[in-house]
Amino acid sequence: MSLFFPTLYRRCITDVTVEDLHRLGVKALLLDVDNTLTTHDAPDLTDGVKTWLAEMQTAGFSLIIVSNNRAERVAPFAEKIGLPYYAHARKPLPFGFRGAAQRAGANRKQCVVIGDQIFTDMLGANLAGIPSILLEPIQPETQQKFIVFKRKIEKPLLNSRRQRRRKEQDYGER
Ligand SMILES: [Mg+2]
Repeated sequence: MSLFFPTLYRRCITDVTVEDLHRLGVKALLLDVDNTLTTHDAPDLTDGVKTWLAEMQTAGFSLIIVSNNRAERVAPFAEKIGLPYYAHARKPLPFGFRGAAQRAGANRKQCVVIGDQIFTDMLGANLAGIPSILLEPIQPETQQKFIVFKRKIEKPLLNSRRQRRRKEQDYGER
């Protein structure tokens, strides 16, 4: 069961602070794209996310996009925002995350996976032995049937977990 849960919960990516990352002892951020950095249908970054990315780079973190999409789709986005990428990562298999860690010049414990899906991002991070931060998706999925199905299973899992963790300090209700 613990394979499905993150190290830390936060509401959105801009709620992840430099202090959070220092506390986790990481130096490289492995970033999901859809519903983490952007929505599925609006591929441009908001000013808040742009500022956050710049802040993380200034603080000295390596940033790399890890996506299940093919390079043809990831590359233009990555180029536009000036970040390296690892495409066709096949999350939740652990190999993409490990490859991305290597590309970022960090070992597993020096990385953190930041994403919005339990069954791809969190499971993949745990299988790869990498700490993780689970975000709430920017926008609820309505179009992609497989993701909608996964969300239905995620919900009860997360609710039972939340009830147990409600009093814990690290739960991201700030
Ligand atoms: Mg996502």
